[in-house]
Amino acid sequence: MLKRNLAHRIVIFSLLGMILFSLAVVFSVDYVRRGMNAQAAEDTLRIASDRMSTLHDQVRLMARDYNNWGDVYTAAKDTNIGFIADNYGITAINGDIFDGVVMFDGFFRTPIAWTKGQAREPSPSFLSQQTLSYIRQNIEHLDVSKRQTFDFVQNDEGQLSFLSASYLLPDTKEALGRAEFDPRTIAVISRKLRDAEMASIRSDLSLSRLKMSVQPDSQLQNLPLNGVDGQPEIFISWTPPKPGDRMIAKIAPIGAVISLTILALTALGTYLLTVNAKDLMARGQDAMRAARSDLLTGLPNRLALIEHIGRISRKPNSRFALILFDINGFKSVNDVIGHQGGDAVIQILAQRLRAIFNESIVICRVGGDEFVSVVHYDDDLRQRVLEVACQIKTALFEQVDFAGNRFHLTASFGFAIRTSSGETCEELLFQADHAMYDAKSSKADQPREYSNEMHLKWKMERRIELALREAITRREEFHIRYQPIIDAKSLRLVRVEALARWTSATMGDISPDIFIAVAERTALMDQLGLLIFEKVCEEVSGFSSLNVSINVSPNQLLSGEFASRIRDLARRFQVSPQRIQLELTEGIAIQNTDAVKSRLTEIGLIGFTTALDDFGSGFSSIGYLRQMPFDCLKIDKSLMSSDSGINGIDEVVKPIIALGHSLGKLVTAEGVETHEDMARLQEAGVDMMQGYFFGMPQTLRDLMTLYPLEVSLKAA
Ligand code: C2E
Ligand code: CA
Ligand code: CA
Repeated sequence: MLKRNLAHRIVIFSLLGMILFSLAVVFSVDYVRRGMNAQAAEDTLRIASDRMSTLHDQVRLMARDYNNWGDVYTAAKDTNIGFIADNYGITAINGDIFDGVVMFDGFFRTPIAWTKGQAREPSPSFLSQQTLSYIRQNIEHLDVSKRQTFDFVQNDEGQLSFLSASYLLPDTKEALGRAEFDPRTIAVISRKLRDAEMASIRSDLSLSRLKMSVQPDSQLQNLPLNGVDGQPEIFISWTPPKPGDRMIAKIAPIGAVISLTILALTALGTYLLTVNAKDLMARGQDAMRAARSDLLTGLPNRLALIEHIGRISRKPNSRFALILFDINGFKSVNDVIGHQGGDAVIQILAQRLRAIFNESIVICRVGGDEFVSVVHYDDDLRQRVLEVACQIKTALFEQVDFAGNRFHLTASFGFAIRTSSGETCEELLFQADHAMYDAKSSKADQPREYSNEMHLKWKMERRIELALREAITRREEFHIRYQPIIDAKSLRLVRVEALARWTSATMGDISPDIFIAVAERTALMDQLGLLIFEKVCEEVSGFSSLNVSINVSPNQLLSGEFASRIRDLARRFQVSPQRIQLELTEGIAIQNTDAVKSRLTEIGLIGFTTALDDFGSGFSSIGYLRQMPFDCLKIDKSLMSSDSGINGIDEVVKPIIALGHSLGKLVTAEGVETHEDMARLQEAGVDMMQGYFFGMPQTLRDLMTLYPLEVSLKAA
């Protein structure tokens, strides 16, 4: 949308630009053209007018000359027509200088005239009575002393004549004075405009059309020439020269080429700009999208989550919940197949999660193995959350095969429902995180809903974590207690299990179930594990024939230098590896992996023995047991209780013992609390037993008092 808008705007702006540019060019060229035309019109009018004046001037000069001729004046006074005809009329008859003359009033009772090609005898006036009377009126105002003339033109059916009238006067000043008292004779000289003169004007002004008419022609340029009555008698008209138009005609092709080139370049520029703009916008949108999606999985990321929640929060009465889930023990996956492998597994999981997406379910990746689903639902939201969590579980729990390893992953789920108090995204995330954390720490496989108690619990665990961190550096708050493990047949002490104890300076005694779990979750376990291992080696080094079992977290086993570290510690305290058995619980995330197998083999080669701890709780699989080179199998104490009416030992423990034996493993039963338990287990053929019945976890010194003579070299 945005993309199209910008491109549209560019196109519109450049179109507007092109139109404005074209208009500006057209208007300026037209302005110049009009200017040139107007200037040319003005010039031709002036020149034509000058030419007409020049022609008329010749007639006026003739009139001033002939009408102020003393001899002619005298001849007129004497009515000597012959003299006038020979000296004045003859010039008109010849027609070289002028071609007509009329004399009237004064010394003549009737007007007389001579015209070109006529006889010497004067003829009647070729000017009408009306013309003569106009002449009389106009001439009256002339200054006689200045010998002024009255000039006008006359049109005789298209033939233009220039006329000049004045009184016939004597030539000297004194005679002029005397003539004041003589009757006034008027003489009019007329000269026709000749075709040649017309042609010369036309060619000099390079006019295409030149004509005369009584009415001005609006299409043409008109020069009025005044008649005897002072009104325009005739118009000389011509097509005004159009140099501007000619210029346009000349430059038009070049101009058109230049304009088209400019327009084409602008159009090309616009096109490129549009393409660029589209590209830029597309890239901008890609960047926006990239900023909101997780690089590894392409799922929406935390930013997208915050924006999505912002959007749905704004809708009135919008109901939604946040489910936060985290893969359990994902660190082991990375340890086994490396980070790239871990990434690939996350991608496989994301691919499956994607299938759950719909309008009301959005799933985002917010951390390494941490995801958040926003569930938007109007009805029973809590029920909907459980359904969605179930869908997610189904997707995640399906086994993942990668590079020869098979992973059975689980996840812990916590959720928070947005209440009417309108929690922010951060608050909801915080709540869902606590709920998830709670589910994880209590190994719950059902989603946990956030409650205030969880927050308190979380705070408590934070305190524990901080205290644990410090305690690990100080070391002295940790102690080891030892619990006897007894041979089932001889009831002699075979070995002891070392169990860690922590008495925090600030919080007092904290159960290993709690602090071991905190250490595992906060990556403190490697350090703590080695610390315990060291303490145990130190303590048992004084009892040369005492065998000891030490608990090891699955993560510890997979961390790179574990085997060499414990080998070095055992060597340092001169405790033979053969005396130490490592108890391992099944990694929640890992089964059947080559990595676990090879680590166990590595440990075995050093001389340590191994036991699979807590068998029968949680995820234990017989396939796993079959493949892994454990020396011993420890049956979980939970199977010992005879809750729910069934006899745990006979119905569950006995077959496990048989299975262990069939796989060539020694079998230890944990949680032996009563004599009856002992008897049944002996009957079931167990190899070793451990439990309160034989002794509580205690100091080595106390244990030696309890089993003073039993410390023997009996191998496990
Ligand atoms: P675990 O390895 O299964 O240890 C046996 C637990 O069962 C011990 O609890 C022990 O006191 C208890 N127990 C022994 N006999 C009986 C019995 O007859 N009945 C009942 N109900 N319980 C009995 P503890 O010492 O509280 O340790 C709890 C868990 O903490 C251990 O379970 C082990 O998983 C973990 N843990 C303890 N010390 C360490 C350690 O040094 N390293 C690691 N990684 N984990 C440890
Ligand atoms: Ca154990
Ligand atoms: Ca156990």
